[in-house]
Order: sequence, then structure tokens, then C-alpha cells
Amino acid sequence: MCLKLSCFRTRSSSASEDKLSPNLPSSSSVLKFDHTIHTGVLPIVYRSEYGVKFCGLQKLHPFDAAKGEHIYKLLKAGNLFISEDDVCKPDEISTDDLLEVHTKRYIGSLKWSVNVAKIAEIPPLIFVPNYIVQRSYLRPMRYQTAGSILAAKLALDSSTGTGWAINLGGGFHHCSADRGGGFCPYADITLTVKMLLSSGKGIERVLILDLDAHQGNGYARDLMDDTSVFIMDMYNYRIYPKDQEAKLAIRRAVELKPHTQDSEYLQKLRTNLVRSFEEFKPNFVVYNAGTDVLKGDPLGILDITPAGVIERDEIVFQMAQARHVPLVMLLSGGYLRSSARVIADSILNLNRIGLMPVHQ
Ligand SMILES: [Zn+2]
Repeated sequence: MCLKLSCFRTRSSSASEDKLSPNLPSSSSVLKFDHTIHTGVLPIVYRSEYGVKFCGLQKLHPFDAAKGEHIYKLLKAGNLFISEDDVCKPDEISTDDLLEVHTKRYIGSLKWSVNVAKIAEIPPLIFVPNYIVQRSYLRPMRYQTAGSILAAKLALDSSTGTGWAINLGGGFHHCSADRGGGFCPYADITLTVKMLLSSGKGIERVLILDLDAHQGNGYARDLMDDTSVFIMDMYNYRIYPKDQEAKLAIRRAVELKPHTQDSEYLQKLRTNLVRSFEEFKPNFVVYNAGTDVLKGDPLGILDITPAGVIERDEIVFQMAQARHVPLVMLLSGGYLRSSARVIADSILNLNRIGLMPVHQ
């Protein structure tokens, strides 16, 4: 399948449209749903500012700090698009928007490098002046956070008619309103759900499908009592964060043993996802597609093959599309350097088999 692309840059601009323009800075709230998106857009969200770089210190963390860039380059090499102008670029999320979910105390705490070092799991960061930490780590994370919200809007907007979108970043599922952790400084999933439920687009039931290897405890704490949200979380129960309190928010927990392999993993996904759709009848899916399930990942400790990840994404897209439920995919964890290749292959596969239609 060949995707015909047109991008925001090709459209006429009006005041409302400019709020989502990839090329124009905007001071407007990224949480508001007050824009027009033109048809023909390829709803992949990315910008080069996603990358985390601070004088090589990022190499002390097993996380591939340039995962989005690597995927972007592989998708470009796979002819999914021609240049960065053909993908959708988010603006940086503002402090005011972050405060729609986060506490002032938490946002204020990020002005101290010692606190950020704990969240980023890079101890030497405590010696780095905070303005450098802000510029090199937190700012890229703020772009990725806005990217999750923008991707959800693209999946939802009737004028694009696609029903899907992918943010080449985000999925910070360990961060809640008042606490960061596990490399997650902002609660992009809670913010995205909040935007969806207040969008005025009829979204009343959001399924959060979390297939990262770790339990998603951040948004779970934030959305504990929200009956508009159903959490299905499939994770290795023997690893971080083992958050028993957050677990109370999970409506369908699928706990996996270390070294679970493809056949068991995919069978459990199919069965439980069908039941989640039947039980909750969601009208939007937030898919947290962590690739730290891959065999050899030092933190996920599961044994899923690249082919298993590709089939997993296919199952999720197929089930959502068969029910006409819009879906946004966030990348979340994935600590192997080979993760980017697997994700790019999976996206190219979704395109090849027709699960990434673009409205013209
Ligand atoms: Zn993870």
C-alpha cells in the first residue's frame, strides 16, 4: 500500500489551524481541541527535538535516548515519508498545561537536578546544572508529552478520518501527577486521557492497553477512580515497579512470568483484549507499546521475538479497526539498541498490510 501524503505545510493557514502547525511556534494550550486538521495527513508524530543528549551522560543509561530519531530514519529509508516536513510536529507543552494534571510541588521539584537524576536513573546528573538538565532532558520529554496528546487528536479528528496515530516517543507510564520515576518525568498518558475526555468529541470510555514489560503505575494512580477509563495491563510481575496500590486501578491485569515466549504472550493478548473490548466497549484506545518485552532486554526480562512484537502490534491495530475504535500508539520503554529497528519494521508492516489507512 502506498501512502499519499500531504502535510500541514501544504495547507492554507488560519488562526485556528496554526495551533497545530508543525512549523509555527504556538503559545496556545496543547490540551484544547480547537483546531482543524486537514485530510491526507500521515499521523506520525515526531520532531528532532525528541532526542535526549547531555554530553554523553545519556550513554550511562541503557535506554536508547535517540530511539525516535532512529525509527524516524528507518521509516524514511522505508519510503513511508520523504522528510521531517511530512510528519506532524508537536509544540512544547507549557507549564500551564502540565499543571492541568501535575501538582505545583512536583513541577517545582524538577528545578533540582538531584530530583531529576532519580527520575532519569542517571546518578551523575546531580552534578549537572539544572538549566542544562532542563534543556537536554526535560525539554525533549516535554515535546514527547505534547506529541502523545497531538497523536491522540490526530487519531480522533474526524477530518483526518484515519482512526490511528503513532507518537515516536512518549508512553511515560511510571509518572503520575505528583511523582516521576523509571525514566518518566511527565504523565503524558494521564494528560492525553484528560484531553480526550474533555475534547467534546464524544469520548466517554478510554481503554488504556499497556503492553510495556513493566506495570504502568503512574497513570493508574492518577485514574484510579475514573470509571471512564479501563486499564488492561500485561506485564512481567517480577520486575519494577511492583506497585500494589496502583494495581487496584487495573481492570484486567495479565501478569507474565519472566522469560514468557511468543505463543503464550500472543494467546494471552488475544484472549484478554477481546474480553476487554467486550466488557468495556471503549470508544478510544491508548496503546502503550513498549518494546522492552524483547528477548535480551536487560530490564524487561521477557523472551518475545521481533516477529512476536510485529504480530502483537498487528493484533492490536486489527482489533481496534474491526470495531471502528480510534487508537493512538505510544512507544514507551524498549532498552535494546535494536528496538528501533523492530518498531520501524512493525510500523512498515502495519502499512504494508493496510492497517494504516490515510483519509484523502
Ligand atoms: Zn518498561
